[in-house]
Amino acid sequence: MSPSIKKRALRCALGAALLVLALILPLAGPWRILPYFVAYQVVGSDIIAKAFGNLKNRRFLDEYFLMTVATLGAFYIGEYLEGVAVMLFYQIGTLFQDMAVNRSRASIAELMDIAPDTANLLVDNQVTVVDPDEVAVGDTIVVKAGERIPLDGILMDGSGTVDTSALTGESVPRYVQPGDQVLSGCVNLAGILTLRVTETFEDSTVSKILELVEEASERKAKTENFITRFARYYTPAVVGLALLMAIIPPVFFAQPFHDWLKRSLIFLVISCPCALVISVPLSFFGGIGGASKKGILIKGGNYLEALAQSEIVLMDKTGTLTKGHFKVKDIFARTLSQEALLEYAALAESQSNHPISLSIVEAYGKPLNKELLASATEISGHGVHAVVDGKQVLAGNQVFLEKHFVQFPEDFPFPRASTEVHIAIDEQYAGTITLEDEIKTEAAEAIASLKEQGIRRLILLTGDKKEVAETVAATLGIDEVYSELLPGDKVAMVDKIFKEKSDKGKLLFAGDGINDAPVLTRADIGIAMGSLGSDAAIEAADVVLMDDNPAKIATAISISKKTMAIVKQNIIFALGVKFFVLALGALGMANMWEAIFSDVGVSVLAVLNAARALRLK
Ligand code: ADP
Ligand code: MG
Repeated sequence: MSPSIKKRALRCALGAALLVLALILPLAGPWRILPYFVAYQVVGSDIIAKAFGNLKNRRFLDEYFLMTVATLGAFYIGEYLEGVAVMLFYQIGTLFQDMAVNRSRASIAELMDIAPDTANLLVDNQVTVVDPDEVAVGDTIVVKAGERIPLDGILMDGSGTVDTSALTGESVPRYVQPGDQVLSGCVNLAGILTLRVTETFEDSTVSKILELVEEASERKAKTENFITRFARYYTPAVVGLALLMAIIPPVFFAQPFHDWLKRSLIFLVISCPCALVISVPLSFFGGIGGASKKGILIKGGNYLEALAQSEIVLMDKTGTLTKGHFKVKDIFARTLSQEALLEYAALAESQSNHPISLSIVEAYGKPLNKELLASATEISGHGVHAVVDGKQVLAGNQVFLEKHFVQFPEDFPFPRASTEVHIAIDEQYAGTITLEDEIKTEAAEAIASLKEQGIRRLILLTGDKKEVAETVAATLGIDEVYSELLPGDKVAMVDKIFKEKSDKGKLLFAGDGINDAPVLTRADIGIAMGSLGSDAAIEAADVVLMDDNPAKIATAISISKKTMAIVKQNIIFALGVKFFVLALGALGMANMWEAIFSDVGVSVLAVLNAARALRLK
């Protein structure tokens, strides 16, 4: 229990005891007020202090002010018991809210707990325990069984199973062997892992996630901002009304002042907007926390709100629906041996991180003689242009080579349904490497569940060949496909589709972020694949899927819809009860006790409802 919660609980308990004492003490006359006043001070001194403090800072007319005026007013008209009780129940309501907020914080903190405090640095066969901050890229660290991996790295030695659930929500452990990339934040379940560190602590996955989660609560949803603005006008308005209620009937209609003052105080108690002010942000907070437990990082309440209105989903193919892990299938060499062609291609591609490049280097398999490579430039969506062994090498798609006036042979014999990399050496066509990528196992489910979520249009965008794109789309049941797009074309496509959506609907783009960071920013909601994707994509995206599972797009939408439903329930419920009891109060049909319970009761129910958002399935 946090200290502030303890203090408040103590205040409530002590205040309640004093109140009982005040009720049974046989005091009479003006002395009667004393024990009530002591109880009042014990229960509410912090609220009163805040009300006056805010008054000094010219931020008056907030809920503290409402409570202070209402309770002091109750004392003024001689309703001591009610005065203390209003303050007491208000504090009990606040206590409940604090506890709910704390619980949500705790779940987020659990997530935060994924950052280890130490790393075992290996230097000259000696292990020293250091701060992860002090480990440099290229250093070697050792992770023992049961320890959390402190920094991102490549597994050099040892094999084992790692629990990735903190990052991905995926509970099945992953087997890792030398050469595999391992991410910080995962737990090493068995074996000793020796890693070569590839990112500093600051740039490691775990730090990035924490940063994202911390920043998420700062980006407010429209609904949250609306509530804040609403409270800004609402509170002064009710205070004004209460004032009029206390003055007009007695002054102009010769009504009893005492009665109307009492009505106006009841009115003030009822009107406190606490339920809304706290439960709406709490619901968003819960939704974001609940999603992050499933490996879905939503960067702010605004995106959570937008996700619930998703109408059109655009998806990239490579790395999003397919594994993005190409395998070289065939090598058609025209002017030189297959081996030599592959070597040229591998050298030319060796500087790029594109999945195609990685697979060609992998297929070559042998160490590359980098001295032969004089320069290499990547033209995104096209291919690479390199100087290898003094020769101009182009490796890329047909459009790219044709731009460089490479003549393709008449008998162009390649299977059309695979991804191709054509190679030209000194502007002469030299051969083609065909590659194949696998569809992710979750891709079909991803599409089906998006349709279930009522997505009106599902569109596949890709830079790959038409035949390849259409095969993938047909397999998965996507009906709109645009292929052979350059990164710029993808942006233009998003702009065009933007105009075709309804006013309220939102456009989602999901990609692995390689070559598509511009599109991620352009869409209403950009979703990036977190573990495959580039850093630029994680920066540019609004939602990051830690385990690259496209089925989580629909999960994110579903969580956002449920969270928004909770927010709406709370707003309607809280406002409904408020207005109803306010009307009763104005008509003189509600007493102070009903006022107290309508306020505190609604707050507590709304907060409990909001806490549900954290546990959404
Ligand atoms: P996608 O939309 O499938 O992610 P990209 O925009 O990354 O595709 O690339 C589109 C096409 O451009 C690829 O299918 C390939 O033909 C070609 N290409 C892009 N980068 C490279 C590269 N590094 N080497 C060879 N070909 C490339
Ligand atoms: Mg891509």
